Amino acid sequence: MKILVLNCGSSSLKYQLFDMENEEVLAKGLCERIGAEGSVLTHKPEGKEKYVKEAPMPDHSTAVQMVLDALVDSDHGVISHIDEIGAVGHRVLHAGQKYSASIIVNDDVKKVVRECFDLGPLHNPANLIGIEACEKAIPGKPNVAVFDTAFHQTMPEKAYMYAIPYEYYEKYAIRKYGFHGTSHAFVSARAIEFAGLNPDNSKVIVCHLGNGSSISAVVNGKCIDTSMGLTPLEGLAMGTRSGDIDPAVAQFIANKENKDINEMLNILNKKSGMLGLSGVSSDFRDLWSAAEKGNERAKMALDVFCYRVAKYIGSYITAMNGVDVIAFTAGVGENDHDVRKNVLSYFGYLGVELDEEANNKRGEDRYISTPNSKIKVVVIPTNEELKIARETKELVEK
Ligand code: AMP
Repeated sequence: MKILVLNCGSSSLKYQLFDMENEEVLAKGLCERIGAEGSVLTHKPEGKEKYVKEAPMPDHSTAVQMVLDALVDSDHGVISHIDEIGAVGHRVLHAGQKYSASIIVNDDVKKVVRECFDLGPLHNPANLIGIEACEKAIPGKPNVAVFDTAFHQTMPEKAYMYAIPYEYYEKYAIRKYGFHGTSHAFVSARAIEFAGLNPDNSKVIVCHLGNGSSISAVVNGKCIDTSMGLTPLEGLAMGTRSGDIDPAVAQFIANKENKDINEMLNILNKKSGMLGLSGVSSDFRDLWSAAEKGNERAKMALDVFCYRVAKYIGSYITAMNGVDVIAFTAGVGENDHDVRKNVLSYFGYLGVELDEEANNKRGEDRYISTPNSKIKVVVIPTNEELKIARETKELVEK
């Protein structure tokens, strides 16, 4: 079966077409600047030349149609007819408290995605348009929603409740939800397998460190806590997000600088984190290169990042009363050996021993702790698209 995976962001659409016989990627690509000037499709068919097409994409429906056209195109296509696509898996941001697993889309599911527009204002509308565009363009083929929040729905009340008046939970379902769930699920399961743990007796911490970053604590394969909250703003300091902050800071700055709450949230989401602290960049490669040249603010930003990661790991070790494996994943977690080394330097007292040589290498799933280390540390490249494709296949074949 061939499965198309779609990830619709606020102004972008990423896709991959899998042949699930061997989980091979037949084509992948990206539509950028949807709804703006200069929209562009970049299509990479396996074994063929990359194809780039600039054309107006006023909305996500147009983008989906362009992707489908590219997939069947006689020159740069990889299938001969759209009917060859057996199902479509959609990354959907928010399911509120409704779904704790992926689900085949029907009218009820679409209603839930719509009801969660408030909780995921940038993504959920785009996700729904993507689903409806596929329903029209590939009629009769199932669409599956794979939610970013689903994996975290196993968190206990004590982890997801905010200590604010209870009426806001009752009225608006204000609570911690968590994100990057597909990645946390994929990496925690792989870490258990890789380290040969008993899945029913395992404690794993997943550090998904990328432009957006989050950490989760996973006991026996189930998430019991995660660092992102009602929105992805909570938790770690990130590329451009502040992460945890005293909420009074927003009021203080707003009063001093004559800004409203929306402007403040925009600053905390887009102008803070590594970018705001360093004034250099949100990209860790730029930060290290500036730090090496003596840029003190870049150094400080990296220290803030690693310290916050270490504090979360420490708190999750307490929450789980121990840990078997710490797993690093995503752009920074997989590639940045200096960040991993800095983070792990906080855990000498727990007997974590870094294998410097393994840490400095690149590659696939691997240990970066020594055989003597009391806690195993691994790097597991994440693959959210493959996880979405697998879940889609499983559901439609049921
Ligand atoms: P992601 O959001 O998972 O795609 O991660 C993107 C981030 O990973 C970028 O902003 C970079 O900061 C970081 N990154 C990617 N490659 C490297 C690398 N080789 N070394 C350090 N950081 C990297």
